Amino acid sequence: MKMFHSGQWQTGSAEIEVTNPFDGSVIDTVPDGSTDDITAAIDGLVDGAGVMRRMAAWKRSDILSRCAALLRDNESRLAELISSEEGKAIRESRAEVRRSASTMQLSAEEAKRLTGEVVPLDATPGGENKLGFTLRVPCGIVAAITPFNFPLNLVCHKVGPALAAGNSILVKPATDTPLSALALVELLLEAGLPAETIACVTGSGSRLGAAICRDERIRKISFTGSADVGRQICEMAGLKRVTMELGSNSPLVVLPDADLEKVAAATCSAGFTNAGQVCISAQRLIVAGQVHDELAEKLAPMIERIPTGNQLEKTTHVGPMVRESDAERVGHWIDEAVSAGANVISGGERSGAIYHPTLITGASPDMRIVKDELFGPAVAMIRADDVEHSIKLAADTRFGLSAAVYTNDVTAAMKFANGIDSGNIHINGGPQWRADGMPYGGLKESGIGKEGPKYAVQEMTETKMVVFHGLG
Ligand code: NAD
Repeated sequence: MKMFHSGQWQTGSAEIEVTNPFDGSVIDTVPDGSTDDITAAIDGLVDGAGVMRRMAAWKRSDILSRCAALLRDNESRLAELISSEEGKAIRESRAEVRRSASTMQLSAEEAKRLTGEVVPLDATPGGENKLGFTLRVPCGIVAAITPFNFPLNLVCHKVGPALAAGNSILVKPATDTPLSALALVELLLEAGLPAETIACVTGSGSRLGAAICRDERIRKISFTGSADVGRQICEMAGLKRVTMELGSNSPLVVLPDADLEKVAAATCSAGFTNAGQVCISAQRLIVAGQVHDELAEKLAPMIERIPTGNQLEKTTHVGPMVRESDAERVGHWIDEAVSAGANVISGGERSGAIYHPTLITGASPDMRIVKDELFGPAVAMIRADDVEHSIKLAADTRFGLSAAVYTNDVTAAMKFANGIDSGNIHINGGPQWRADGMPYGGLKESGIGKEGPKYAVQEMTETKMVVFHGLG
């Protein structure tokens, strides 16, 4: 596919091959964009920002609604594209397309809700006989830098709100998975989006990042990706607004009264969806000593039976990781844990880019598979003594994106909710649950700001205060 900027589909001086991680076959190529492409794209988006700022709310909403309908109409084709470039099982890619349509529809609705408020200026002396109100206005040009793991929906989570709020937008999709983002641009243009209001430049983030993040004409950067890159972007951004959606090592806490059938089902889903490459995957399974062994015995065969293989086959639940080197990395981290005393009780093997779903017992807080973000298909069980100890273990992390507890004890559940610094907290559900409309974002090193169209629109707009004097 070509990249898109300056109102046109563009080639580059070199190309990047996009491969299917299952067999390494080349599925397409995209241009290896240059910093000149970024500059040209931003030049074009300056005009685009003016077009969007003048466009009526109903029209922005209509375009986004039409895009949502086109996403639904193209579910099969887009799902195949996502699975081919990213490696996730086709059943999950279909769900991602449906969620993308919802994200665009929610954005379409938010386009009509940009409001200000009347401010009671006479609440303090000197404010008499004046009328004050706020206006919410677009930032101008928004830059969206997106990760590989949800190559369509996480682009929608930035493009939808940015356009709803009346901005133009520059997308820099992940180097490994640019095709889904380019397909979204095609659908937006088909839905009637003016060509000068969007750009999608493909290529390496480390090469293009500075040209995007240091350009003063970009007023807002919305980034989803790793904490290391997030930090670099913040350093380059200067006086720009930033939203940072970063990683985590989410805990799933199991208290003694938990329904273990439900916990086991939740772990199989929250631990292994997209081969564990989800920022809110259940990575640390913190289990009360009384039920630890029973849960391990229940889980091990269930995890062993998860169908792995070619992601394009309907029966597959876990496909390849995005790169073989990532599957190798997961293997190294697990070997390291085993050398430090952990046991692999299910999985623990690699075939090419596929790392087989793995359950580990005997994990401890100083192991890399516990304290860092694994981003792979393995769950590490940690034994806890009591409620307080479970909460302490769960809270012992520099991350804070999502956390879950299974218990029927309301007091213990509230202790957990109060004791964990996490952007999302789930009671009797896994940490990987997300509705696209909810405020979603991390605390601590998991990020800054919230996504979810209503909340992202807030972050992609500015407030102006207008005061009429001398009215009395
Ligand atoms: P990554 O940080 O390697 O890359 C993300 C994006 O940043 C890519 O587009 C990449 O090209 C670009 N990039 C790389 N270096 C850059 C630089 N110096 N300047 C500017 N841009 C640069 O992340 P990834 O491997 O694609 O995704 C996995 C990470 O994303 C995990 O840490 C995961 O937890 C996180 N993630 C977070 C959320 C969330 O909502 N919090 C959602 C999905 C993924």
